[in-house]
Amino acid sequence: MTPNRPDDLKFAFPPLHGRVAAPEWAVRVDLAAAYRLSAHFGMEEMIRNHISARVPGAPDEFLVKPAAIRFSEVTASNLIKVSVAGERRDAAPLPADQAGINIHGAVYEARPDVHAVHHSHTIAGMTIAAQKDGLLPLSQHALRFYDRLAYHAYEGIALASEERVRLKRDLGGAARGMILRHHGLLTAGRSVAEAMVLMYYLDLACQIQVKAQASGAALTTPAPEVCREIARQIEGNGLTGDEEWPALRRLADTLDPAYAT
Ligand SMILES: [Zn+2]
Repeated sequence: MTPNRPDDLKFAFPPLHGRVAAPEWAVRVDLAAAYRLSAHFGMEEMIRNHISARVPGAPDEFLVKPAAIRFSEVTASNLIKVSVAGERRDAAPLPADQAGINIHGAVYEARPDVHAVHHSHTIAGMTIAAQKDGLLPLSQHALRFYDRLAYHAYEGIALASEERVRLKRDLGGAARGMILRHHGLLTAGRSVAEAMVLMYYLDLACQIQVKAQASGAALTTPAPEVCREIARQIEGNGLTGDEEWPALRRLADTLDPAYAT
């Protein structure tokens, strides 16, 4: 089924409030908010890229948007459910995006501590993904990811299940973000809030680097020990997205409260 009118989505996905467990509903609402906010922040690319969240109480399942809809059409009820191995676990009529499921499923298999994944194709992110040296410690935003950023070599559109092995290897440590070479960015959060906030700052760090390099001025970076200390400080301050999230949810409410239906 391909939705041609907004009403098609409503008929395809009946409201789930009260029909799924309360913790799952809460994650669905947070995830739908993250999609709407990402569209607002300019992180949407037509119908491509995905944000996902592990289903509470079902660690081998995650929620993600169907392939054919835009970020700004996502609601808590029209998220689909798939297993980390890529099998559908719901009866909704819209297909999933196979490459998206492959990438997200690999992260959940590799990282039990991760409960939400944000993957974007922002212009700044793809620009840094094309640079040999990757993200440089040019800004405080970049320092948040110092020694905490993984890199994944380009293998084409991530459809092959063998690529999952390499994705799992590359994000198998404690990294909170990953640069997919010639492709885009990924963040791995302990919550939807953390994945969203990390993506906001990772993309911002990439934007700053692109602009700093384009300025033509000689660039400077802090000493490695300062970079390590700042990264530790940011992490130690418990910046997990929980402080930002209520304000971001209010922004999502202002943009269009229908996400929470
Ligand atoms: Zn992608």
